[in-house]
Amino acid sequence: MNPLASMLLRTSRAEPSRVLLRTESGEVWTYETLEAVSGRMAHALQGLGIAPGDRVAVRAPKSAGLIALHVACARVGAVYLPLNPAYTAGEVAGLLEDAEPALVVRGDVLDDDAIAGPWSVVGLGAIAEGTPGEDEPFEDVARSADDPAAMLYTSGTTGRPKGAVLSHGNLVFSAETLTSAWGFTKDDVLLHMLPLFHTHGLFVAAHCVIASGASMVLLDAFDPAAVIAALPRSTVVMGVPTHYVRLLADPAFGSEVTQGVRLFTSGSAPMLVTTHDEFRASTGQVILERYGMTETCMLTSNPLDGPRRPGTVGLPLPGVEVRLSDGDPGGIEVRGPNVLAGYWRRPELRSTEFTDDGWFITGDLGRFDADGYLEIVGRSKDLIISGGLNVVPKEIEEVLDSLEGVLESAVVGRPDLDFGEVVVAVIVAEPGMTPEPEALRSLARERLAGYKVPKQVLIVDELPRNALGKVEKARLRDLVAQVERGR
Ligand code: AMP
Repeated sequence: MNPLASMLLRTSRAEPSRVLLRTESGEVWTYETLEAVSGRMAHALQGLGIAPGDRVAVRAPKSAGLIALHVACARVGAVYLPLNPAYTAGEVAGLLEDAEPALVVRGDVLDDDAIAGPWSVVGLGAIAEGTPGEDEPFEDVARSADDPAAMLYTSGTTGRPKGAVLSHGNLVFSAETLTSAWGFTKDDVLLHMLPLFHTHGLFVAAHCVIASGASMVLLDAFDPAAVIAALPRSTVVMGVPTHYVRLLADPAFGSEVTQGVRLFTSGSAPMLVTTHDEFRASTGQVILERYGMTETCMLTSNPLDGPRRPGTVGLPLPGVEVRLSDGDPGGIEVRGPNVLAGYWRRPELRSTEFTDDGWFITGDLGRFDADGYLEIVGRSKDLIISGGLNVVPKEIEEVLDSLEGVLESAVVGRPDLDFGEVVVAVIVAEPGMTPEPEALRSLARERLAGYKVPKQVLIVDELPRNALGKVEKARLRDLVAQVERGR
């Protein structure tokens, strides 16, 4: 038994000639190609001495070969560890030192200085060629549901990155749950525009396709023109809010090109209600917003059939339990077969990231509405406590976003002798507008209690975001501190 390999190779064994993917450069892979390439890679990995439990890190640009490598790792029982190719040499070195991989696979055009170490380094192309003379089909190594299959370093917008170890069971449960919740069939064509080193692009998008025998258009990266060109051939699109904002800004985007798409999903970062509204006005469709994280795979989703509520992330997925710790909003805690057992070589985190009764502490703050839809109001560590009163950044951001001249905003706390912390807003103006900080503060005062009104409003060209479009509040706090020092 090898739970993940069995799921990922189910279609290649039943209907090998089905098309799995098409790339922008015209490559076409059937499911048989996936079986053959991953089999060659699995032989090559074993030839390099890779044993079950070994970490195989990869740092390479997005390509179909990465999907095959992930499947090959599952087949040999190795732990697949994808790295963001945009990480600096220093960041990569730190992660590799922590992960101690047995092998690092590099892209064929990336230099390897950053990945040098006591481990073997090999190019993705070389691995795909396999071992000369080894043409036998690969027999998958036996693994159990609890064995590790992948490790992803959490996006690390704050603090030291932690390796989240996901088991065969976590990944299979999550993919099966999502394909059913989102009604995937073999006839679906997913427009794949997400990175493959993150849970969203790999364990949500690619796994949903492969687990259901569907196919995908694999774009090299997000590019509005390429997305718009591929939309008429697609039935499902998964993106982060920034993708949708950029598509809406393109005059070629609208109901004409989206007619054949049955489902748009969004996640990884909060989507503004205004973006939901604009999307509906432009396409006549309602984006399905869902919520999850690297450590837990997907947790909640708005329904496929039934009301999708903008501003909420929907209902807990079947088999996933979600509860709130004390307070309104409360800390979101979760439990289920989708939740990681622990972090790589950090046993001490078991007591800080999990409750005594075994629930995982997400670090997000939320509240349920009367019908059980979950609303995320921010990260617990972003909660601002000013003069002993709790300020939830999202509430302030919503007010600011609705003011004339404001495109978007992010609110953080700044240390203050009197109040402990005070509220500071960082604003991006709408193109061509120059809102006045003082005027924004007085407008905000009409809608918010005094202690919630930003004491300071900074205007910037854009908010710092990570690869998945999440606003990096730690960087914003640094910026605010710098401005304060300069005053
Ligand atoms: P990551 O591990 O990089 O996927 O980040 C997970 C975090 O992204 C969660 O803990 C949330 O803070 C945030 N997140 C994911 N989906 C959503 C969503 N739909 N709305 C708001 N925040 C989200």
